[in-house]
Amino acid sequence: MRYISTRGQAPALNFEDVLLAGLATDGGLYVPENLPRFTQEEIASWAGLPYHELAFRVMRPFVTGSIPDADFKQILEDTYGVFEHSAVAPLRQLNGNEWVLELFHGPTLAFKDFALQLLGRLLDYVLAKRNERVVIMGATSGDTGSAAIEGCKACDNVDIFIMHPHNRVSEVQRRQMTTILGDNIHNIAIEGNFDDCQEMVKASFADQGFLKGTRLVAVNSINWARIMAQIVYYFHAALQLGGPARSVAFSVPTGNFGDIFAGYLARNMGLPVSQLIVATNRNDILHRFMSGNQYAKGELYPTLTPSMDIMVSSNFERLLFDLHGRNGPSIAALMTEFRQTGGFTVEDDRWTEARKLFDSLAVSDEQTCQTIAEVYAATGELLDPHTAIGVRAGRECRRSLSVPMVVLGTAHPVKFPEAIEKSAVNLSPALPAHLADLFERDERCTVLANDLATVQQFVAAHGNRGKPL
Ligand SMILES: *Cc1c(COP(=O)(O)O)cnc(C)c1O
Repeated sequence: MRYISTRGQAPALNFEDVLLAGLATDGGLYVPENLPRFTQEEIASWAGLPYHELAFRVMRPFVTGSIPDADFKQILEDTYGVFEHSAVAPLRQLNGNEWVLELFHGPTLAFKDFALQLLGRLLDYVLAKRNERVVIMGATSGDTGSAAIEGCKACDNVDIFIMHPHNRVSEVQRRQMTTILGDNIHNIAIEGNFDDCQEMVKASFADQGFLKGTRLVAVNSINWARIMAQIVYYFHAALQLGGPARSVAFSVPTGNFGDIFAGYLARNMGLPVSQLIVATNRNDILHRFMSGNQYAKGELYPTLTPSMDIMVSSNFERLLFDLHGRNGPSIAALMTEFRQTGGFTVEDDRWTEARKLFDSLAVSDEQTCQTIAEVYAATGELLDPHTAIGVRAGRECRRSLSVPMVVLGTAHPVKFPEAIEKSAVNLSPALPAHLADLFERDERCTVLANDLATVQQFVAAHGNRGKPL
């Protein structure tokens, strides 16, 4: 499989290289040159497979030529073997024909484990073969950091540096990162905000001299392997609900558009998906596009759903590429317009094409809490606030009551106690058994000034299993 850039000016890469690449050299994002397509018979024959075996069938075409089948099978069995629920991604029914796909049974209790547990193992496999070591740098406001550290903690060939804003992530989220101890794991608390952390990662990618030749790898959601891993659970859910003979609709709590883009790919690979709902919080750039063809940068509002607090959605460029007939130069032009003016609209027929599949809703904090309370009262299920936004949007945007509506349950409620309290649900969710002693574990973290040179010196001094590069 070959991968091409959405801006059309970077060399095509194979899977192995795309795994190690961040942005393409032309500033675009990598996408498969040709998407595999499965027949209905083929998809139907996968019903009842264990999750890792379904994962093998769905993802195999993407890694062909880079990873032999037997090795890939083993990696997938190891990856999904760490999930706490034997079904890996169980479905729970909320209402007539309404379901939550629980994606929070991985080590860090959010859906990001599906991709980052795999990414860590793939990186280590490829790097061992090449006899190479890499450094990962990432910024997190919460979920990504812990999932990336959990995914990479066992990697022999990776040193991972995760920056979070000092005193600005919840205690559960901080401890999920800082209690994972290892020579190759480095938590940095920056005396600044999330944007400061992200800027330092960007600046480090732009100028890598401080790494003395060691390769820098990205684990944010632009990494193709993360999208690839998320395609699988759309097939998994549909197969449980009568697919592919029957179509299914999905409502997806959305920030950077990575998770829902995977659903769009599943549909293009042959899975009958009748509707995809973009569920956002008050940071609603995608809702403004879907409802009014305006993709314009707004202000950033802090909400009760911090994992969806974004101003621009990096993966949206991948959808735009398809909407523009996969014409790289027109995407490059749109992105230039966006950079210069802060917004754009697309031609009418392209927007109409998107709207055949996508609907959207922006949900306020108040509505989020209402939904948590409502669902709890009606079913006894406690939703995390991100999932609650998905449920709300699924209910309001639903096109058909006879098509199963699957809401992606993106996180466990225990990660977001503030929203649960505000919902006046009189219940404090308990940590699952494997995290029960989280508050007693030792923490390791270095507080650094909000200064690029300081951070880069730290990375250079510790980037080789804690020793200098
Ligand atoms: C990351 C995250 C999201 C947003 O996913 P995107 O792929 O960025 O759209 C939603 N909910 C939770 C809990 C998350 O951690």
